[in-house]
Amino acid sequence: MYRKNVWEKYDSHKEIMDFNEDYKEFLSIGKTERLCVTEAIKLAEAKGFKELSTFKSLKTGDKVYAVNKNKNFMCFVIGKEDLEKGINILGAHIDSPRIDLKQNPLYESTDFALLDTHYYGGIKKYQWVTRPLSIVGVVCKKDGTTVNVSVGESDEDPIVGISDLLIHLSADQMQKSAAKVIEGEDLDITVGSIPLKGEEKEKVKNNVLKLLKDKYNFEEEDFLSAELEIVPSGKARDYGLDRSMVAGYGHDDRVCAYTSLRAILDLKEVPSKTACCQLVDKEEIGSVGATGAQSTFFVNLLREILVLKDEYSEVVLHRCLTNSNMLSSDVSAGVDPLFLGVNEMKNSAFLGQGIVFNKYTGSRGKGGCNDANPEYIAYLRKVLDDNNINYQTAELGKVDQGGGGTIAYILANYNMNVIDAGIAVLNMHSPMEIVSKADVYEAYLAYMAFLNN
Ligand code: MN
Ligand code: MN
Repeated sequence: MYRKNVWEKYDSHKEIMDFNEDYKEFLSIGKTERLCVTEAIKLAEAKGFKELSTFKSLKTGDKVYAVNKNKNFMCFVIGKEDLEKGINILGAHIDSPRIDLKQNPLYESTDFALLDTHYYGGIKKYQWVTRPLSIVGVVCKKDGTTVNVSVGESDEDPIVGISDLLIHLSADQMQKSAAKVIEGEDLDITVGSIPLKGEEKEKVKNNVLKLLKDKYNFEEEDFLSAELEIVPSGKARDYGLDRSMVAGYGHDDRVCAYTSLRAILDLKEVPSKTACCQLVDKEEIGSVGATGAQSTFFVNLLREILVLKDEYSEVVLHRCLTNSNMLSSDVSAGVDPLFLGVNEMKNSAFLGQGIVFNKYTGSRGKGGCNDANPEYIAYLRKVLDDNNINYQTAELGKVDQGGGGTIAYILANYNMNVIDAGIAVLNMHSPMEIVSKADVYEAYLAYMAFLNN
């Protein structure tokens, strides 16, 4: 069995620890896909990347980025070879499971004001009650302005939350299955309990509306065009007495997004093949829509780049896609010592053993997955071994235990080489996910080695 511990490879762990300080900062700020894009722009511009529309032509060595509807970020380093020869692509998603506000969210019940929600992505609902939550997102108004909302992220802020029944009165609730113990319609957020003086009815709700008007200058109707996300409050923290891990919300898949982004931003020399990093939205609900991986945004961006490089034709575009290689990165299910039964140990991902390659994902006989070609895997093994980078291969649990999908098959539909890669995580899709700092750093090195080939 091929598997090597990353920690043991290094004499000093300083570089691992330092890199993870940067990652924790990114994860603590990037609570939504929009905030991840804002942060990506900042990091890219600091490294000399410029927005696509500022270029009249593109040449070797140019660093360019483009943003799609504030929720989807792509950047490129133009390589020495013609694009026709193919490009090297890193891809990851920046949306994470969460709880979204409904369009008409605010109501009052028994002298509490509450916000009604609809959860986003696959969550165990019972994990989200009785814990500190924040409201983060945007309210877009009819006058064309956008109000940025963030409540619960700074130490002075209040938090919000979802209540659960006291154990003393839970005789009926405790008989329910875990799927039913907290139901989707019960994931409502408590936001207030002071009545507004002088009102006839809905006094507490009206007091909340007054607060929103005073602080953010928006009305109840403006919720109709808002995107407000309920996310776990607080910063990413070191986990374990030895500080070997990071606990935080949204490692899936901001951990692969950050390491992929840093790899392209930190390239020291102009690569032979054009390097690309894509941070996409909507993976957790099927990669659909304008900002998801299925959007035409990427291919149209390639067309723009080919035009600016004076290489454009549809045949060249097709050759570029066919000759490209991609690491489609998403978190892998790490082996949890408390739940060993769901894994087949020879083919499982372990924390601390480097970037994980999933030849296939899917469920029930690999259904719906991208099954990477062995020729491509052999190529990647050589790249990683030549650069002394630790990696492991895994499946998502035992055969027929469950499964999952990623964006890999979508890019593979363009006929390029794609494999699922990523970082092992514990507690996936929970408000507190765990990764190994060693894997975060080793994945970053793997991505760099990939882009340099
Ligand atoms: Mn994911
Ligand atoms: Mn996920």
